Amino acid sequence: MVGQTYTDKAAYVEYLVGDAPLVLVAPHGGALTPATLPDRTCSACVTVADANTQELTRAVADTFFARTGKRPHIVINRLHRRKFDANRDVTEATGGNRGLDTTWLWMHAAIDSARSRVVRSGTRGLLIDMHGHGHDVPRLELGYLLSAATLRQDNATLVASGAMARTSIAQLATSSRSTADRGVALLRGPNSLGALLVARGVPAVPSPTDPAPLVGEEYFNGGYNTERHGSLDGAALDAIQIEHHFTGVRDNATTRGVYARSLVQALLAYLALHYGWPGT
Ligand SMILES: [Zn+2]
Repeated sequence: MVGQTYTDKAAYVEYLVGDAPLVLVAPHGGALTPATLPDRTCSACVTVADANTQELTRAVADTFFARTGKRPHIVINRLHRRKFDANRDVTEATGGNRGLDTTWLWMHAAIDSARSRVVRSGTRGLLIDMHGHGHDVPRLELGYLLSAATLRQDNATLVASGAMARTSIAQLATSSRSTADRGVALLRGPNSLGALLVARGVPAVPSPTDPAPLVGEEYFNGGYNTERHGSLDGAALDAIQIEHHFTGVRDNATTRGVYARSLVQALLAYLALHYGWPGT
């Protein structure tokens, strides 16, 4: 039922059912550290949480609802990343603790359920995977599964190599309602998500004014969730990973509120331009 929250049996992951073609996922903002769960100790495992991204995701969903009367679907991992990483394959996510396999399966089934609801509403939709980074440059890093080196190529080279077909917005690149914005324009053209954010005062890469990370700059280009749930394989959701810097966007409730309004404005413009939502 729309507006209702469901959880897995242990209440480690929650799914709030929405009625907009937007799915917000917060995989690294959990705080629960039950003593009954072992810490993940796999050698390459990252265990640092993305501070305040759960709170930020809730603020964005609330702002979206206040603006439109429609709710995004939200999927939130309540467990601390030390216990469960909700943006990895099952083995790395659980650190090999088979007791969490059902939690992992439940979370991805929740996203699949959100996608089915979007499809039944008669449209395609957008998934945003909400993260936080600690890199030197204070800007949003928008991840479409293309590396920084690939983004540094000029548009003609990206077109010639068919790069958009390898992105998590591959389907949108051929189906945007705004035909002039199809293809590489979705990365850093005038109606790309980066452009819509920069126009609202939020720095972002890629965008028209910051088309690619420079050599030597750190950049996250997406992850397990964007790859699995985006439209790389032709599915009905496109996916974009947003890695947030800290100060001014997620450091306290005031900045989260201000940034949430900017992000919602940008997302509403994006949904209208590219998906024709909510339509007339
Ligand atoms: Zn993260």
